[in-house]
Amino acid sequence: MALIVQKYGGTSVGDVERIQNVARRVKATADEGNQVVVVVSAMSGETNRLIDLAHQISESPELREYDVLVSTGEQVTIALLSMALNKLGCPARSYTGAQVHILTDSSHTKARILDIDDQPVRTDLESGRVVVVAGFQGKDENGNITTLGRGGSDTTAVAMAAALKADECQIYTDVDGVYTTDPRVVSTAKRLERITFEEMLEMASLGSKVLQIRSVEFAGKYNVPLRVLSSFEDGPGTLITYEDDQMEQPVISGIAFNRDEAKLTILGVPDQPGVAYKILGPIGEANVEVDMIIQNVAADSTTDFTFTVHRNDFEKAKTILQNVANELGAREVTGDTSIVKISLVGVGMRSHAGVASNMFQALARESINIQMISTSEIKISVVVDEKYLELGVRALHTAFNLDQAPAA
Ligand code: ADP
Ligand code: ASP
Ligand code: MG
Repeated sequence: MALIVQKYGGTSVGDVERIQNVARRVKATADEGNQVVVVVSAMSGETNRLIDLAHQISESPELREYDVLVSTGEQVTIALLSMALNKLGCPARSYTGAQVHILTDSSHTKARILDIDDQPVRTDLESGRVVVVAGFQGKDENGNITTLGRGGSDTTAVAMAAALKADECQIYTDVDGVYTTDPRVVSTAKRLERITFEEMLEMASLGSKVLQIRSVEFAGKYNVPLRVLSSFEDGPGTLITYEDDQMEQPVISGIAFNRDEAKLTILGVPDQPGVAYKILGPIGEANVEVDMIIQNVAADSTTDFTFTVHRNDFEKAKTILQNVANELGAREVTGDTSIVKISLVGVGMRSHAGVASNMFQALARESINIQMISTSEIKISVVVDEKYLELGVRALHTAFNLDQAPAA
């Protein structure tokens, strides 16, 4: 007998029929003699609908109330799925995050899980019930409802699997695994049989939303066997694994892209020690995260400084930068929200030279101008105009032979 945690995303529980379909899958797993914990998301579109309601009342609602509101979507699906399971003759009970004691810190809208009391769940499992847990939510030490950030049900599932020392955590979604790139953008994308935690972490943090970043961090840290599968068809999915020295690693495993960034530039800043701090200090103090940064010194000993932030933070960051520009006597502040970041990811990059130049050549062939570049040991990212997103990703997919990647 195995203990399996299964997570079903929004599309997979998008209507009553789909919830019944999930119930049949869960029942089949239980009927094979396994103990099953199911984590579910809100029905597709529901979380967005709730966020929209909040914003109709207030541009910046209290985050405590925001979490009370947006966590309700998952409460609907846990109840419906439990009803569907009971109807099929598979005894099940639903629990909110607070009810299964998912203890988090108090950072509303992006809380981190600190602890889970697995005892109540174990008691149910031992008495032969399926346990259905609401994803995306927890409570802080004062009992306030918290949420874990968009896509956070993945993290609930992995955290439950870690707490229960489950044999496998299965993430069921609307694609049948992790692909070389988003299969909705590149039709020739190939499913990967396996991908390393390290690569999956890079893919997720560079924009591939198939798994929430924290779920991958958590799975790597607590050694949770993690698999991504389709809730609509059977198949092996993609296993997230540790790097295997015996395995020949492809140079590039996948291509991620991110449409959520915006670029800001402060031009003609006097080039003196401390300017980077004077520019980025106030941005950090305002809680705006900075991603890529480039600085260039001009012949007249002034410097141009460019960085990217999340598009939601663009206006805030621009206002701060304009104040900084006045203080420093800089020439001008410019901004661009129509950019995207495209990244190549692969642990094989460590042992291969020339990946960057092949990337730049493939983009040049399509006359795509590169605005910014950043590299690390297993990734290379470029910022380009958003109109080149699809063309760029397709060109790179072909240039790095991912169109031919074997499905096995
Ligand atoms: P769920 O609601 O089940 O959590 P998500 O929408 O969060 O589903 O994640 C699944 C989606 O992730 C897919 O529909 C796909 O468009 C997108 N995606 C982005 N990059 C990839 C990738 N490399 N492999 C597979 N899916 C990807
Ligand atoms: N319902 C939440 C969201 O839409 C959490 C999740 O689906 O994982 O972000
Ligand atoms: Mg998701």
